[in-house]
Amino acid sequence: MPLDPTANKASAQAMRPEFSSACERCSGLCCVALCFSTVDGFPYNKPDGEPCRHLQADSRCELHSTLAQRGLKGCIAFECFGAGQQLTQARQNGQQTPQNTTLIFRAFLALRQLRELLWYLRDALDAAPMLRPQLLALQRETEALTTQPVEQMATFDVQPQRVKINTLLLQTSELVRTAARKGAPPIRIAGKPLQRGADLAAADLRKADLVGANLRGACLIAANMSNTKLFSADLIGADLRDAQVHGADMIGSLFLTQAQLNQAKGDAATRLPPHLFRPAHW
Ligand code: SF4
Ligand code: SF4
Repeated sequence: MPLDPTANKASAQAMRPEFSSACERCSGLCCVALCFSTVDGFPYNKPDGEPCRHLQADSRCELHSTLAQRGLKGCIAFECFGAGQQLTQARQNGQQTPQNTTLIFRAFLALRQLRELLWYLRDALDAAPMLRPQLLALQRETEALTTQPVEQMATFDVQPQRVKINTLLLQTSELVRTAARKGAPPIRIAGKPLQRGADLAAADLRKADLVGANLRGACLIAANMSNTKLFSADLIGADLRDAQVHGADMIGSLFLTQAQLNQAKGDAATRLPPHLFRPAHW
């Protein structure tokens, strides 16, 4: 089957350039700021604030071209939603120059969360025009928070903003999923009603009706979702590690991120929203 042209990386990133990780314009913040472990698909166990031993002096990864071969899924999956280059550029431009690197790493983690929330708001704006005024107001407010000085960002508590945004995201989800179900009966998986945060690890969902499904926070690790239709399915926070999405139609799914796709297993027949791209290792 020919590749879906909308799944091209350049065209996907062009649709939401502000969220694309531009590692070439970043000082490798994620490879230093994060603590990680082999269990999560990183090369070794490392505390936060310590540079990964594979990060070179030029802030490039010496393993970059072989991450997939080495099975470093954590490295492949990570997305910063543009936080890394935003912070790096601000520092290079002399706008923000704190000496304390711990502050910078804390600021990076907070900024990444804010930018992720902006990603979800962008999805909601596309999906629920009836909520546009409220969504736009929160988008403006959140964008303003992303420009606060590093010292402030480092101690910024994202949670209250997350709660506010999540209220609107839930409304969006409800509206979109209800419209998609068109009065169809509630979704049941293996005889049980599908509920938010469902544990569907390794479940065979190939025949499940997932249009408009509430898969918020669902554990879909190694679930088989091949050839499913996920139109208007809410996937926010769903764990898609090793989930099989071969041939699945994910166009029109809600709150899907590149990081989730990077962890799933798909193929040339998987249909993706135009602002997301097919991972190189599929
Ligand atoms: S923080 Fe973002 S831009 Fe920087 S290296 Fe990591 S993924 Fe790339
Ligand atoms: S292996 Fe490469 S991508 Fe992974 S954390 Fe280390 S430097 Fe970063």
